[in-house]
Amino acid sequence: MEVRGRGVVGQGSAAAARHRHPPPHRAAAARVQAGDALPLPLRHTNLIFSALFAASLAYLMRRWREKIRSSTPLHVVGLAEMLAIFGLIASLIYLLSFFGIAFVQSIVSSSDDDEDFLVGSSGAPAAAAPPSSRQQAQAPAPCALLGSTAAAAALEKMPEEDEEIVASVVAGKIPSYVLETRLGDCRRAAGIRREAVRRITGRDIDGLPLDGFDYASILGQCCELPVGYVQLPVGIAGPLLLDGQRFYVPMATTEGCLVASTNRGCKAIAESGGATSVVLRDGMTRAPVARFPTARRAAELKAFLEDPANFDTLSMVFNRSSRFARLQGVRCAMAGRNLYMRFSCSTGDAMGMNMVSKGVQNVLDFLQDDFPDMDVISISGNFCSDKKPAAVNWIEGRGKSVVCEAVIKEEVVKKVLKTNVQSLVELNTIKNLAGSAIAGALGGFNAHASNIVTAIFIATGQDPAQNVESSHCITMLEPINDGKDLHISVTMPSIEVGTVGGGTQLASQSACLDLLGVKGANRDSPGSNARLLATVVAGGVLAGELSLLSALAAGQLVKSHMKYNRSSKDMSKALP
Ligand code: ADP
Repeated sequence: MEVRGRGVVGQGSAAAARHRHPPPHRAAAARVQAGDALPLPLRHTNLIFSALFAASLAYLMRRWREKIRSSTPLHVVGLAEMLAIFGLIASLIYLLSFFGIAFVQSIVSSSDDDEDFLVGSSGAPAAAAPPSSRQQAQAPAPCALLGSTAAAAALEKMPEEDEEIVASVVAGKIPSYVLETRLGDCRRAAGIRREAVRRITGRDIDGLPLDGFDYASILGQCCELPVGYVQLPVGIAGPLLLDGQRFYVPMATTEGCLVASTNRGCKAIAESGGATSVVLRDGMTRAPVARFPTARRAAELKAFLEDPANFDTLSMVFNRSSRFARLQGVRCAMAGRNLYMRFSCSTGDAMGMNMVSKGVQNVLDFLQDDFPDMDVISISGNFCSDKKPAAVNWIEGRGKSVVCEAVIKEEVVKKVLKTNVQSLVELNTIKNLAGSAIAGALGGFNAHASNIVTAIFIATGQDPAQNVESSHCITMLEPINDGKDLHISVTMPSIEVGTVGGGTQLASQSACLDLLGVKGANRDSPGSNARLLATVVAGGVLAGELSLLSALAAGQLVKSHMKYNRSSKDMSKALP
């Protein structure tokens, strides 16, 4: 952790070297210093005042010794002595204001470091420590500048042919969405669309980078009508010691404090011997809705689908959708004459929405012969339930249902988490259990599971909208071993993740999956990569819950957020 204000002192060769060659993120901070207000360079001013102090002190000591010898009263002072006293006081004030304050700051900062969420000793690289908010505020944004310059250069160089296409898109003669297929060049299509958007809106989007992204990789899979990409920082929390393995967990977030806090939770878990997890269930669901002439007819299909005697036939039809899709069961619900059929199937390493939807379509086509009066209203009737808070996911599960637990030792609770077992247990009961009950929560019996879920989802190419049900979590804390140690668990019934398909195949996201050792399909045991990823998500949530609850119990939350989450940048300057 960099000690704030030390750069002002600028003493010692290492410090001087840092000043001569400041690292890029501190260059701006190094440019503006308190010493800049002085007429001389800081080092020379320090030297002058140090010399003045030493000379004044030596002179006064000599004079006082002479006076004592000659029995002259000490308070009788001449002009030279008065000047020496003045020089001594002035130099003392100067030196104290620099070295003294820096010294006090270094003590304060080092005690701050003790309370830091950034705990590198568990193996997390020290480089993971974020710069202080001041450094962040003053840091130049080389990437943004580069992106902006590159975009400007690209626009300047736009060939005449492209100029004509831009004009046609602006005039509405060419639909923007056909650019990729017409041009056969995804980067060029994005550049032309971007320029058209700029001209239509009159808005400068230079801050949104265009180059440095493989637009072909998202075509027909991840995003339509691209004009650029948003940059998100990825931090690493860990190692997360889970089921005997060490994971370095990538988290994409712009919430200061989050990675640091999760990192602290990882340290507490690792120092207590690690966490363990169990996957209770693994199945993606899709629930079409069909209307019948009468409720009786709807009930007949319900009975057919739920009859175990028909399961083999149904699964044979369903499983044709993919070699990885395996029907697990159908649960039905009715609303009048409408029937909601919740199909559940395993999907290998895919999150599985496409797979399960194809299987469901196969079954609906098959059923139409025996139930010709069935009117399929929608392949999704919201009983699935996808990307919406729903009790059915909370109770029945969706995707991977995972429980992750750890025993945190008394001394770790004290040393790393800076609180005690009793306070943590009490806080969890009153906040996460009673408080959430008072709020009428649905699956929200936790402190901030969605924070960790969403950050890992974005980093690893999951569908971030599925954080809704994937963040369902009940956090339980209990004292064990005569109240000395803490048992903590998170139960998450609907973590929806995959390691193939969707955004997982994009370069950055795939690199993050690789870091966790779960990239792509697991050929030996299809589905194990996705299940392992789900346990890492739950483990990350366990760490996040532990750390945030501790911060709350110790009353540290606001302090930490002010440290990592509040830039000192003057936001009024950011206004147009
Ligand atoms: P989703 O169903 O999550 O939307 P997709 O159906 O788009 O995912 O992607 C899954 C694709 O990946 C399918 O075509 C499937 O055949 C293929 N695949 C290859 N290996 C695996 C695996 N181990 N598990 C699941 N799918 C796999």
